[in-house]
Amino acid sequence: MEIVLFILFVVAYITFRILQPKIKGYIGEKSVAAILSFLPSDKYKIINDALIKSNDRTIQIDHLVISVYGIFVIETKNYKGWIMGSDDSEYWTKNVFGNKYKFYNPIRQNKAHISALSKQLGLSFNKFIPIIVFSNRADLKVNTVHNVVYTTQINRVIKAYSDIKFSEDDIQNLCKKISSLNIVSPKVRKQHILEVQNTIATKQYLIQQGICPRCGHSLAFRSGKYGDFFGCSNYPKCRFTKPTERRNNYFLNKLAKKFIKSLLK
Ligand SMILES: [Zn+2]
Repeated sequence: MEIVLFILFVVAYITFRILQPKIKGYIGEKSVAAILSFLPSDKYKIINDALIKSNDRTIQIDHLVISVYGIFVIETKNYKGWIMGSDDSEYWTKNVFGNKYKFYNPIRQNKAHISALSKQLGLSFNKFIPIIVFSNRADLKVNTVHNVVYTTQINRVIKAYSDIKFSEDDIQNLCKKISSLNIVSPKVRKQHILEVQNTIATKQYLIQQGICPRCGHSLAFRSGKYGDFFGCSNYPKCRFTKPTERRNNYFLNKLAKKFIKSLLK
């Protein structure tokens, strides 16, 4: 009986773990959109989930707020745990109950988006205001001069900007221009998701072949505190690492061990 319950639990847990990032991302973006909608609509024009074609690729911007005070470019991260990072580091880490995970510096990610937008719109960088928003479930321990804030602070941060950068006419034209660049066709949007998935698949293939997807050197198997992982042989020049399945199932392993222990008692 206990075994059946355990198996059911494991199946439910795995299903939850697979769906979790999708659900979390969706809720995160939705809640920021809901909060932004409280900004005075005569002053701030909001475009949520913009997909903009830039040269040979498409960029996805979580939220754009267009105002005479500038164009706010908002990147949302719906993570929990301790978030650590600085302006210039390539990666940030999130620490969830002692488990560390790396993710690409969102300030850099946002800068890349702004750079693409500034080219498309023919505007200088100083017309844009980057904001990184973390859900209130995160514990921000970042060391940055950039706007890295909690979801509930977003409108206050936006309203704090009062220097005029555009005229009312500029805003009308900008909204039109951005709307025309924004891909709304569900078919093209699907294509974009496929492209992203293809890049991920290519990366996974390279890793399976033992090749570092970042620099092309070979990957080496290493053992660490939280389990085994593949690290780039070009370390420390390249710091690419990829956890093995064992590390991904760290929590599951712990739970299974606990359960087995309880049976043996
Ligand atoms: Zn490498």
